[in-house]
Amino acid sequence: MFSRLNGSSFLWKLCLLSLCYLPIAFSHIISSTFDFIVVGGGTSGLLIAEKLSDDPSVSVAVLEAGEAVVDDTTLVPVLFTRFIGTDVDWEFVSVPQKHVSGIQISLPRGKLLGGTASVNGMYFVRAHRKEYDIWEQLGNSGWNWKTVDAHIKAVETFYPASEHDQEEFAAADLPSDHGNKGQFQVSYSNFWQPEPLLVNYIAALNTLGINRTHRASGGSTAGVWQSPTAIKPDNRSRSSVGTDFVLAGNKKPNLQIFTGAIATKIDLNGGISTGPSVPTNVRATGVEYVSGGTNHTINLTSRGNVIVTAGTYQTPKLLELSGIGSPAVLNAHGINAVVNLTGVGENLQDHAGVLTTFEIKSGLGQSIEDLIRNATFFAEQEALYVKNRTGALASVPGSTIVMLPIQSIVSNQRLKTLTALLDKALLSFKGTPLEKQLNAQRDLFLDPDVPDIELTLTPGAQDPRASPDPTKSHVTISVITVRPFDRGNVHLNTTNPLDLPLIDPNFLAITDFETEVFVDGIKFVEKLTQTAPLSDIVTAQLFPPSNATDSELSSFVQQSIFSVWHPCGSSSMLPKDQNGVVDANLKVYGTQNIRIADAGIIPVSLGTHTLATVYGNALIAAEIFKHLV
Ligand SMILES: Cc1cc2nc3c(=O)[nH]c(=O)nc-3n(C[C@H](O)[C@H](O)[C@H](O)COP(=O)(O)OP(=O)(O)OC[C@H]3O[C@@H](n4cnc5c(N)ncnc54)[C@H](O)[C@@H]3O)c2cc1C
Repeated sequence: MFSRLNGSSFLWKLCLLSLCYLPIAFSHIISSTFDFIVVGGGTSGLLIAEKLSDDPSVSVAVLEAGEAVVDDTTLVPVLFTRFIGTDVDWEFVSVPQKHVSGIQISLPRGKLLGGTASVNGMYFVRAHRKEYDIWEQLGNSGWNWKTVDAHIKAVETFYPASEHDQEEFAAADLPSDHGNKGQFQVSYSNFWQPEPLLVNYIAALNTLGINRTHRASGGSTAGVWQSPTAIKPDNRSRSSVGTDFVLAGNKKPNLQIFTGAIATKIDLNGGISTGPSVPTNVRATGVEYVSGGTNHTINLTSRGNVIVTAGTYQTPKLLELSGIGSPAVLNAHGINAVVNLTGVGENLQDHAGVLTTFEIKSGLGQSIEDLIRNATFFAEQEALYVKNRTGALASVPGSTIVMLPIQSIVSNQRLKTLTALLDKALLSFKGTPLEKQLNAQRDLFLDPDVPDIELTLTPGAQDPRASPDPTKSHVTISVITVRPFDRGNVHLNTTNPLDLPLIDPNFLAITDFETEVFVDGIKFVEKLTQTAPLSDIVTAQLFPPSNATDSELSSFVQQSIFSVWHPCGSSSMLPKDQNGVVDANLKVYGTQNIRIADAGIIPVSLGTHTLATVYGNALIAAEIFKHLV
């Protein structure tokens, strides 16, 4: 996205408009025994806790490491990236990436009530329907497009764009592909400056055969379209489980929220093993946590369940600290394997991206590039937002999405070459737990209807290596591969529960194939910028340089990868022999009452941004869990 903006004087103005609320008391009862203990009050966890506590006879506790926060960063759409590097960011960093020049990659995540949904980019989008259907094909009965989509619909209320924006900017999803009674308000961005850039971009895409689609939220994502966003259409502020909850306050006596509470261990009962045989059906009795420097424990009732929703990076660590995981990993830290589960922390997947930067004609109108570098423009836009909720602050940037099946940008001959490279790499997974899911991904790659590459367009130059001239105007087009075949892992680093885990996304591990796909994506972007009418606006290619050879582009890719912030898979919902951690009822294998429901359960990366799916999955999870008590 783009760098952090200067808006420090902003909050008081929002407060005048009654948009700034101080966190209200969240705890009504002080109890130490609960039917459900939800670890991680983030996107999935807080939604599940809300739904379960709708039944007043059920007691629910949420342990959330962060605090309850609403402020300009969490509420005002364009300011969202300001959270990066602040105390509401976990500030995870990958281990050095051996296929990406040894660099360590920044992996921000929300550390506050409501989790990453309180600070993310708010795109509210689904993947292609076939991508959900393979979850079921891999052994998860009932988990398919129809079910997940129905549950996403159930949490959203969709507001169509104006006819003008539908026509001009492809903000035109079919309303029937959305819900209209759910708690999250979903509308479109409405700041499109500089408009000619966007209009000509869409027209050039059309010239190259990439058409607009009205069905991106109906399970058919290929083409160019605007992302719906979780922005309230009336006051243009974030609509999310955390910000809405904090603003409303906790009204339920049977829901207890512990903020600033870092879970350190799940207490298990059911046989600590010191020998080679490990017990199978262990029971959680409670959860230990640290708050204010002091250790505490809360317990489960006899019918109780622990629901772990600490996110893709932190859930595996908590399981491992509790003795659930691969004996090899646990023993290296002197932890006894209570449950032998080798899939824990494995199967980590993420979207990787690179930035391409272009200079564009000046005089087309001020854009979000000017928000960052022109204090007067920022002040004008700030005033507009405060006054009537319009202008650059009322939208998130980069919401024009292009989803490209590889077949739409390469020749048949080239596709054969890429497939041969992929097949060569996949040989080494034959007979491993990953074979089935990688083959399913290969089928998606060969399907001309299912996208493999995403492009996003943002005014401004985000890559400093492009050396942009500050007096000129720019555009950044990100090339993102949404079908990663590489698999990374995340495991505890030390036995100190407060230490961050070791995260290895293992980007570009299927090096030749994945690099080549990126190179094809970059070449398509170059061709696009040379296609009328976009070529009327783009005046120069800055970085990578326009005359780069294929091998120079490969080097560029291998030095430029960043995370697009959609990690999943580290607690995969899969059969155990496929590196699964939870079954289709989200129960951790080998346990009686430990469940997982965060983005980590997504077994195979989706060609989309993850928010809507995480919410949909959380609603499915809540429906499963409510029958447990
Ligand atoms: C910068 C950024 C922008 C993004 N933009 C988009 C977007 O525009 N659209 C989209 O679809 N997706 C987006 N995503 C991804 C999306 O937001 C996430 O996939 C989703 O929110 C993950 O939800 P989750 O429940 O798995 O984890 P989270 O929402 O991260 O929740 C995990 C929670 O657990 C807490 N926690 C962790 N460890 C502990 C512990 N030991 N004890 C207690 N609490 C703990 C955390 O503080 C956090 O609140 C973005 C992600 C990032 C980082």
